[in-house]
Amino acid sequence: MKEIFLLKLGEIVLKGANKRQFESKLRQNVRRRMKLYGNFDVYIMQSTVYVEPMDEMADVDGAWEACRSIFGVVSLCRCRPCEKNVDAIFDAVEAYLGDDLDCAASFKVESKRSDKRFPLNSIQLSQEIGGRLAEAHPHVKVDVRRPEYTVYVEVRDLAAYVHGPAEPGAGGLPTGVGGRAMCLLSGGIDSPVAAYMMAKRGVEIECTHFFSYPYTSQLAKDKVIELARLVTKYSGRMTVNVVSFTEIQEAIRDNCPEEFFTLIMRRFMMEIAQTIAKQDGCGALITGENLGQVASQTMDAMTVTGAVVDIPIFMPLVGMDKEEIVTIARKIGTLETSILPYEDCCTVFTPKHPKTKPTLGQLLNAERNLDRQALMEKALATVEKIKVSYHDEPLL
Ligand code: ATP
Ligand code: MG
Repeated sequence: MKEIFLLKLGEIVLKGANKRQFESKLRQNVRRRMKLYGNFDVYIMQSTVYVEPMDEMADVDGAWEACRSIFGVVSLCRCRPCEKNVDAIFDAVEAYLGDDLDCAASFKVESKRSDKRFPLNSIQLSQEIGGRLAEAHPHVKVDVRRPEYTVYVEVRDLAAYVHGPAEPGAGGLPTGVGGRAMCLLSGGIDSPVAAYMMAKRGVEIECTHFFSYPYTSQLAKDKVIELARLVTKYSGRMTVNVVSFTEIQEAIRDNCPEEFFTLIMRRFMMEIAQTIAKQDGCGALITGENLGQVASQTMDAMTVTGAVVDIPIFMPLVGMDKEEIVTIARKIGTLETSILPYEDCCTVFTPKHPKTKPTLGQLLNAERNLDRQALMEKALATVEKIKVSYHDEPLL
């Protein structure tokens, strides 16, 4: 018998005039994700996305797993559609949920009637189905206050749907409704989480990674591509721009005072990332910076690194504790890869005593022997654009 998914929309429901645009983006995103799992019909009615397998070949479990990571969905359930009459609803509950019900000590039925033409109201329908179920499962007691299991019945426009408890969805807003931004992605714990958090707010993500071969290895680069791939489970496919940073780092090492190394390097990263961002239609940068975590993440440091760009820099982790960031990294599945011990270019020429209270004047002075423009142009000529999608082979 057929099973379909109902994805309930979150904040989108509140968006007034933009609601249609949000819904259509979400439908488009769900359609695109479902393509990988076979033939599914995806439509929206009454603030709910319906995902319906159209033939026996569809990979329903794979599709379900994918739906759990689509932003814009607050909760989702697998359910069985049936005709809109009490007998058909009862039969569907028995066939579809009977085994689950048998495992519980107590239950209740909760009904929702959005088709007001249905002859019973919600309470009457719950009582009717609940009464029949109590007779059919005498060892499971009815408990409307604290039931161990809840049977849900939804009488909607096209059909009635029965299901067990819904699961929480990925939340947030549909990818794409919040514009597009460029995440500076390192191999660490923080920046993949930052990318995920902005994607959750509906932002389409592109990434830029700076690597310093031979100071950093091919493995370090693969690790970053793999992290991006893990983020695409939520964000959808993305492009990672890999930029060779070796020459810039060597120029800094040879021409600048050591205490400013990291800050000068970060100013290059920001400006180069902004250049690629603008070329690719991104309206903001995203970093995994976190106030006070390291010397280059003090307020003064952020002022001097931010001074080279004129688009917003989103730092979704700025006020979080490391433990909170790690919890998210674990939940989204990036932590294990992030903690693999491959070096990052930031750690290659780390100053022994980095400046924690720099001023812009000091930075400009420290950079005076560099031809910033020429160095940036050379680095931009090395950009390699790598397309990443969740269904690529894992790299590590
Ligand atoms: P992460 O865990 O994300 O590496 P971090 O705590 O190690 O962060 P830093 O190394 O100071 O912090 O970097 C701060 C931010 O700068 C990172 O979150 C990331 O956005 C960006 N960044 C650092 N190194 C790189 C890199 N090699 N390529 C691109 N962006 C980088
Ligand atoms: Mg880092």
